[in-house]
Amino acid sequence: MFFGAAMEDKKVNEERIPRNFITDIIDEDLKEGRVTNIATRFPPEPNGYLHIGHAKSICLNFGLARDYNGTCNLRFDDTNPVKEDLEYIRSIERDVKWLGFSWSGEVRHSSDYFDRLYGYALELINKGLAYVDELSPEEIREYRGTLKEPGRDSPYRYRSVEENLALFEKMKNGGFEEGKACLRAKIDMSSPFICMRDPVIYRVRFASHALTGDKWCIYPMYDFTHCISDAIEGITHSICTLEFQDNRRLYDWVLDHISIEARPHQYEMSRLNLEYSLTSKRKLNLLVEKGLVDGWDDPRLTTISGLRRRGYTPASIREFCRRIGVTKQENTVEMSALETCVRDDLNTKAPRALAVLHPIKLVIDNFGEDGVTVDKVTVPNHPEKEDLGSRELSLSKELFIDAADFREQANKQYKRLKLGYEVRLRHAYIVKAVSCEKDENGNVTCVHVEAVPNSIGTDVEGHKPKGVIHWVNANDCYRGQVCLYGRLFKVPNPGAEEDFLACVDENSKEIIKDAALESSLKNAKVGDSFQFEREGYFCVESKDFVEGAPVFNLTVALRDNKKTQA
Ligand code: ATP
Ligand code: MG
Repeated sequence: MFFGAAMEDKKVNEERIPRNFITDIIDEDLKEGRVTNIATRFPPEPNGYLHIGHAKSICLNFGLARDYNGTCNLRFDDTNPVKEDLEYIRSIERDVKWLGFSWSGEVRHSSDYFDRLYGYALELINKGLAYVDELSPEEIREYRGTLKEPGRDSPYRYRSVEENLALFEKMKNGGFEEGKACLRAKIDMSSPFICMRDPVIYRVRFASHALTGDKWCIYPMYDFTHCISDAIEGITHSICTLEFQDNRRLYDWVLDHISIEARPHQYEMSRLNLEYSLTSKRKLNLLVEKGLVDGWDDPRLTTISGLRRRGYTPASIREFCRRIGVTKQENTVEMSALETCVRDDLNTKAPRALAVLHPIKLVIDNFGEDGVTVDKVTVPNHPEKEDLGSRELSLSKELFIDAADFREQANKQYKRLKLGYEVRLRHAYIVKAVSCEKDENGNVTCVHVEAVPNSIGTDVEGHKPKGVIHWVNANDCYRGQVCLYGRLFKVPNPGAEEDFLACVDENSKEIIKDAALESSLKNAKVGDSFQFEREGYFCVESKDFVEGAPVFNLTVALRDNKKTQA
């Protein structure tokens, strides 16, 4: 409701990527006439949901296309039929759109090019640059050598072109079991770059592919597929992460040796690592499979879908990507950097509301007496944004306040309600605590106060309340569920732990079943976000949403240091 697609789209088009080493390269390429139109691509492997690391790549690739009036393709790198799934494809498309971007033309797939890739493999064989190897995968690894030792030639390396063509045909026709034969590029077994030591470019896999079904039982490898797909699509700047730096040699080698005109170039940037989160689909998948989280969109995950369910806005994620920038330096970004972005965005957009998370009764003993008869106040939805309108809050003799906002005794630092002292009820009366009631365990259940007559919206001489606390009307509020989230992991770098699953903090989710929320919140819809004053930003939980009975998820606390976990 508050984050309409139209508003987002407009903004994304106004944004600009801050200058970085890739924009420098592009500017130079344009100036020198090496390229005229910028074409980028975002190439996810559909083996999981997208995470915040992918957002960095999306913002860069789609952002460059926007900034240079170019194009950006969405291409599924679907060369591994075993791990891929239509559910992932749909979620990735949705996440890219949600972030505010649109790809050029149809969605592409590496598998769209399987016929052409096969043709290029034949070309390499015909040129004596590829051979069918019958070493086992273990032997191939052994023959490959190490960083210190050169590799050794496979005994199958010097087969004739005819023999290779026949064997590759046999591979394609299902004549080899998995692992019994593969196609390798014939490059250099003593190259200092291990990826150049006759890399495997095709392997046998008897698996149905999500799109090509059972047409193929041989599948091209990433390094062979990616550069050719880029060339087929006319990509000019192919951006990946630093792990692929060495593979750039192979990227170029393949394109140098096949008949294809277009000449894309690969550039590497550092990947995003974010504290307290995992940026590996494989590891995220394990968390989901083991049931340690509530699906890929668990609000504690920094998947795009988890962040969405948590109440992050697309604009806040894009802003985060803008702030972290694009470099070649590996580093780890603090979680607070991401949180600051959503806080900044919601601060300007989210209407305010009153919500008492741990309610205790507050009884205004003199309610109904002279000067204490107001039972309705009209309050602005946002302190600075008049266009967000106003709403009515009802008052009665019985209110709820948060248990943490009352103490019988406290020192001067305690700016909330204590016996004998005054506070202002937000948007309402100044009240003075006169007594309290407790249960058998000594917990305060009810506070009695005297309201200062005629003190709504105005100072009253002789009364200097020390602080402001929030409240809701006990007789007219929505008793609903609120979920508080902390960090999913107990350690800042779970990915580096031997057993990251053991680092999951079981207390990272707290469900408050019976919060007392101002009555208007009952009508909140999926997509709505609010600032619960003095608490934080909350959104409506999208999962199992019931009209008239929304559940609220904590997006982020108001301040960095504020502990919202009980
Ligand atoms: P994962 O390990 O999560 O599967 P990946 O790199 O294998 O990551 P892909 O689906 O192949 O995932 O990634 C699609 C694009 O997103 C690639 O261009 C990749 O470089 C980029 N990308 C993935 N993770 C990050 C990250 N942490 N930071 C920046 N870019 C990333
Ligand atoms: Mg991958």
